[in-house]
This record gives sequence, structure tokens and C-alpha cells, in this order.
Amino acid sequence: MFYRDPSCLFCKIINGEIPSQRVYEDEKVVAFKDIKPSAPVHVLFVHRNHTSNINDTLTRSPQDILDLYSAIKTYTVQEGLDLSGFRVLTNLGNDGGQTVLHTHFHLLAGKRLKM
Ligand code: AMP
Ligand code: ZN
Repeated sequence: MFYRDPSCLFCKIINGEIPSQRVYEDEKVVAFKDIKPSAPVHVLFVHRNHTSNINDTLTRSPQDILDLYSAIKTYTVQEGLDLSGFRVLTNLGNDGGQTVLHTHFHLLAGKRLKM
């Protein structure tokens, strides 16, 4: 069973309470288009199990990180993004720019990304 935080935006997206443009899902991970894309491909990968940031995930449920990266690999190979290239990033806290407190990885691709 996965833990869900009823007040969490991404938990609401995962359970369908809030609509999203889903591009990938498996038993453990859901991926949907970022509502405010900063690259031609901007997809958010979230685990169905709610944790609040990357450090929290590694403390409480480290296997989730492998699940997320496995999903990213499957999706990027399926879309051919491994050939053109892509970036994966996660933000933590205020200075990192984290706005949603459900661990997520941004997948950015579709153009030559600047630092
Ligand atoms: P972060 O700032 O790293 O916490 O990333 C949160 C991301 O969620 C931002 O890039 C937002 O544009 C995105 N976002 C916020 N609300 C939604 C939504 N309803 N559907 C899709 N993406 C969203
Ligand atoms: Zn959540």
C-alpha cells in the first residue's frame, strides 16, 4: 500500500482528483506534463507513495528512487530521448525552488539546455 497525503497536490493528481496530462504510468510511478513547461519536453515523475523531498525519500523509502529512475529510463528510451539527450533534476526547500512537497523529478529535453 502507498502512503497518500490528502492535502498534497501531486497525491491528488495521482489519484485523479486533479486532472493532468499523463504521459507514463506503472504500478509505482506516474508521470505527467508540467503545467508551466521550461523546455519542449517537461515531464514530472512522481512515486505513488508520498514522501516530501529527495532526502525524506532516501530516509523513509529509498527503493522509491530506483522505481522513479527506472520509470525515467523506460520513458526516455521509449521516446528516443536517450538519443537526443535529456536532464533530470529535483529541488529541495526554498533555496532549491521546491514548490510542491511531494518528491518529484523534472525531466527536461527537446532542446539544447543551458545550465
Ligand atoms: P518544484 O518547483 O520543483 O516543486 O516543481 C513543481 C512543478 O510542478 C513546477 O514546475 C510547476 O509548474 C508544476 N505544477 C504545479 N501545479 C501543477 C499541475 N496542476 N499540473 C502539472 N504541473 C504542475
Ligand atoms: Zn503527495
